[in-house]
Formats: sequence, structure tokens, C-alpha cells
Amino acid sequence: MALLSIVLPAYNEESNIAEAAATLSGLLSENGIDYELVFISDGSKDGTFQEILKASEADPHVKGAEFSRNFGKEAGIFAGLELATGDAVIVMDCDLQHPPEVIPRMWKLWQEGAQIVEGIKSSRGRESLGYKLSAGLFYKIMSKLIKMDMNSSSDFKLLDRKVVQVLLELPERNTFFRALSFWAGFQTESVYYEVQERKHGQSKWSFLSLMKYAISNATSFSTLPLQLVTVMGIISILFSVILAVQTLVKYLMGTAVEGFTTVILLILIIGGFLMLSLGIIGHYIARIYEEVKGRPRYIINKTTDNVPKSVEGAWKRPGR
Ligand code: UDP
Ligand code: MG
Repeated sequence: MALLSIVLPAYNEESNIAEAAATLSGLLSENGIDYELVFISDGSKDGTFQEILKASEADPHVKGAEFSRNFGKEAGIFAGLELATGDAVIVMDCDLQHPPEVIPRMWKLWQEGAQIVEGIKSSRGRESLGYKLSAGLFYKIMSKLIKMDMNSSSDFKLLDRKVVQVLLELPERNTFFRALSFWAGFQTESVYYEVQERKHGQSKWSFLSLMKYAISNATSFSTLPLQLVTVMGIISILFSVILAVQTLVKYLMGTAVEGFTTVILLILIIGGFLMLSLGIIGHYIARIYEEVKGRPRYIINKTTDNVPKSVEGAWKRPGR
């Protein structure tokens, strides 16, 4: 019988683990789906991992691991994919904002041959205005840069074993799970769902962390900002040709003393462009530097008993 793994990254979610495990177990056994639940505690500072241990003791379908510190949701997802042994893997949030009722539909589509089932938000749920604005801006920028509709896509997806294998073999450290499944291709189907209210606790995203996430993902998925530097250079050159002609004409006509304002403005504008360009280039160099160091995406500190001990400690995969 085919096995379904569900990967749930969790950061400070102690109040959600037991409920998520119970809800999913109930739903999946009701639907006669053979399953395992993989909780990854992303360096939580509360009792999240204790909750995972408890859930695992009560139900052998549950397994999990704890990172040595907070590595971010992307790392959590990839650790989960690594620990998952199922023929199909679903990634979802453990705050139950991704409705579990959709899972049987995803599973059915997979059985009918889909290799990726994308969860598409038909509404974004209730969110604060500030969050809506920053998330809105974030998705606008991302959609432009990656050339796909990011507004309604989410991390809620089902992946076939083959796709999971492809993602795990990717050499890059700086991943963007949501877009990678589009990039990978494969036979893709979609299911629509309503984003639910968060059960307990608070969203982990602040305006600043969303912006950081946006910049890091934009640069890891697109070189458009670099091309922007070229465009700015071309604009400056055109501008300077016009000014050069004007200056020369004035000089030849003997009226060239004035123009101090122009000089100051030019220095400011060009200085601004230069610094911005250097910043953008610097950002890419930082990315390259991070990738070149080749550090593991995450470090697993503890696991539940039903996880092979080989995954503990620094992350090592054969052939790396
Ligand atoms: N999460 C994580 N590491 C982090 C931040 C969040 O593993 O550094 C998990 C979190 O526990 C949740 C999911 O990612 O299961 C989505 O986070 P959250 O609910 O805070 O985001 P939102 O739903 O508000 O976009
Ligand atoms: Mg959430």
C-alpha cells in the first residue's frame, strides 16, 4: 500500500502539535490512507519538540526532529522531505491554516497520476492590514521577478517521490520551495482551498522578515536586479550626453560659470546610482559566498526514536 508522508515545519508551535497530529491521524485513517507525520521543530524556544516526542510516543505514525537553532521554514521543509519515506509527500503548516480536508483530494489526484498537486489559495484568510500590505507587496515583487503568479500559490503541496528526489538533489543551499515545484515541471494539478484562521499562537512573520525573505528569494530566483544596474547605467549615460552637449555649448558661448547646482545634483544622483548598484552586486556576491561555503542547510540536534540515528548531528549526505 502506498504511503503518504506529511511534512509539518513548526517554530514555537507547542499549542498546535497535538491538535495537528490528532486531526491528521483521524482524517487519514478515516480515508484509509497509510500515512506518517513528520514534524520538524525549527529550533523552537518553547516546548514544541517535547510535544512532538509525546505525540510520537502515543502514535508511531508520528516522527520528528529538532534543529540546533532556528534555520527558517525552508530548511524545515527540506529536512522534512529528507526524513519522509512516503511515495507521496505533502508539505503543510502545522497551525492548521492549510485545511486538512483537502488532503484526500490531493491524494486522489496523485493516485490518478499527478506528480505535483499545488495548493492554491482561493482567499488569503483574515489578516491584519499591515500584513496584507506587506505580503501583497512581497507577492507583487516576487511574481514580477519569477514570472509566475505567487499571490495565490503556497507551500501547501503534494509531491511525488520522484519530485522530492529532484528537490533533495539540488545543490543550492538557498532554496525557495514554493517556486521550485513550478521550476521542476512534472505533471501538475491544482486544488483550491480557503486559508483558515490560525488555531493557536501567532504568525511568525514580521514586515521586516517578509522583506528579507522577498529579497533573498528574488535574488536566489532571478538576476533581474543585476540587469537593473545596466539599465540605470544606460539612463545615466544618455543623461550625461545631453548635459555634456549643453555644457560644451555654454562653454563655447562664454557663459559657463554658472551651473554649480547641476554639479551638486549630478554628484548626488550618480553617487546614489553607484551605491545602489554596488549594493545589488554586493548582495549577489554575498549569495555566491554563502553557496560556495557549502554549509548544510540545517543541523539536526535531536530526533524521535523512530528516526534513524544517522541523521543526527551535522548534516551529511553521501556524495556531497
Ligand atoms: N515556521 C518555521 N520556521 C520559521 C517560521 C515559521 O518552521 O522560522 C513554520 C510555522 O511553525 C508554521 C509555518 O512555518 O507551521 C508557517 O508560519 P506562520 O503560520 O507563522 O506563517 P503565516 O501562516 O502567517 O504565513
Ligand atoms: Mg500560519
